[in-house]
Amino acid sequence: MSKEAIVVGAGLVGSLWAVFLARRGYQVKVFERRPDMRAVGYRGGKSINLAMSERGWKAVEKAGIREEIEKVAIPMPGRMIHNADGQLSFQAYGKEGEAIYSVSRGGLNMELLHIASGFPNVEFFFDYQCLGADLDAPKITFENTKTGQIETFESPLIFATDGAFSAVRYSLQKTDRFNYRQYYLDHGYKELTIPPTADGKHRMDPGALHIWPRGNFMLIALPNADGSFTCTLFLPFEGPVSYESIRNDADILAFFEKHFPDAVAFIPDLIHDFNHNPTSSLVTVNCKPWQWQGRILLLGDAAHAIVPFYGQGMNAGFEDCTILDGMLDEHGEDWARVIPAFAARRVQDGNAIAELAQRNFIEMRDLVADPMFLLRKKIAADLHAKFPGEFLPVYSMVTFSNTPYHIALREDDAQNQLFKDILNVPDVSENWNSPAVEAVFKNWLKQRNG
Ligand SMILES: Cc1cc2nc3c(=O)[nH]c(=O)nc-3n(C[C@H](O)[C@H](O)[C@H](O)COP(=O)(O)OP(=O)(O)OC[C@H]3O[C@@H](n4cnc5c(N)ncnc54)[C@H](O)[C@@H]3O)c2cc1C
Repeated sequence: MSKEAIVVGAGLVGSLWAVFLARRGYQVKVFERRPDMRAVGYRGGKSINLAMSERGWKAVEKAGIREEIEKVAIPMPGRMIHNADGQLSFQAYGKEGEAIYSVSRGGLNMELLHIASGFPNVEFFFDYQCLGADLDAPKITFENTKTGQIETFESPLIFATDGAFSAVRYSLQKTDRFNYRQYYLDHGYKELTIPPTADGKHRMDPGALHIWPRGNFMLIALPNADGSFTCTLFLPFEGPVSYESIRNDADILAFFEKHFPDAVAFIPDLIHDFNHNPTSSLVTVNCKPWQWQGRILLLGDAAHAIVPFYGQGMNAGFEDCTILDGMLDEHGEDWARVIPAFAARRVQDGNAIAELAQRNFIEMRDLVADPMFLLRKKIAADLHAKFPGEFLPVYSMVTFSNTPYHIALREDDAQNQLFKDILNVPDVSENWNSPAVEAVFKNWLKQRNG
């Protein structure tokens, strides 16, 4: 087989996967429907921030580009909770020295494009919108959105990294026994900006992911290197407190002053941003199989779009690259064997992180301000310190380890049962590190280990 490949979609996962293929000596053609963001800027300069964690770092390390990415990442060792009464409380995400990292999606994408285009065997085609695939050939058809011309390209290998609404996946959806499910949350998100101070400093602690949990909705803010924060409001589309219920400028101000008074002072363009920035929806996509005849493969959001509440969408897509490249190391570039094996092995992890991300929404928007939740976190940290080989909190397993997501999901179910029993120990708030709690833990461990 000739060493040629097509990548559809030059987002985060497509650009990174192009680097992996280039390092293996493939002639790679990458097609992207948007113009080159390095020339025109990222979506008019607006940047979502993403939290990058262990799985993301492992992938960029395997691709040999960790150092470049470290330059654009800001460590966030914990969450800063902005309580309704104005009190602030800091909750560490993991052990001393562990952190998640704030990266600008646009900035990271541009860096990856820059790195990938440094390889002489990678060629980018911008303004090329994929219209679909002729799966058996395999051929792929694009519209050049500048000229309106339709062009078809053939390749022995096609990787679809064209995101949650993948056109390649749409071609697969029409084939027999292809399973597909998409599910929209009732909540939408809107981005707002906290600009830096006049002397370029952050207005809040940059060493944290800031959260204003308010039950059924929340505001979050992640730091940027230029001193600004990117905020995201997650709010139901409809209902008593919703985007629909905020009808005019006075409603916007009243809503923020009531629920996020300390943030209002920091968002000078609140009314303008609220009115002009889009309200975007949040979708989960599960599908199977992710491949066609060992020659076409879905990766990243095209295979497993998830809601953002575990901060894992990009991390999961990057982990796809690590695992696929690792399987090539192990079995050689026998794609006809590796692609189906990868797809069969990895789909359970895509489904598991989708489920964990939905569960974590409740934790973020509501429970982080709940005393029983905080007690659970305290007991979990204590158990981990006392029994490091036997107990790792699920958040740490997902964020700071490379344990397969399907095992983390199983562990989440098991730990939920454990904490149900522990929180029933009499006077557990005072006795949180007592022998009685330890006895419940040991009993749970015994049952699990059979
Ligand atoms: C609000 C929000 C917060 C998030 N926070 C986090 C976080 O903290 N941590 C984390 O890990 N993840 C997070 N994510 C998820 C993360 O953004 C995605 O998982 C990640 O961007 C997926 O990368 P991708 O390359 O698979 O898809 P995308 O980034 O969507 O890239 C797809 C690319 O394909 C192109 N394309 C689409 N259709 C076509 C076509 N027909 N033809 C040609 N090109 C096409 C697109 O223009 C785009 O460039 C968040 C997402 C959202 C919405």
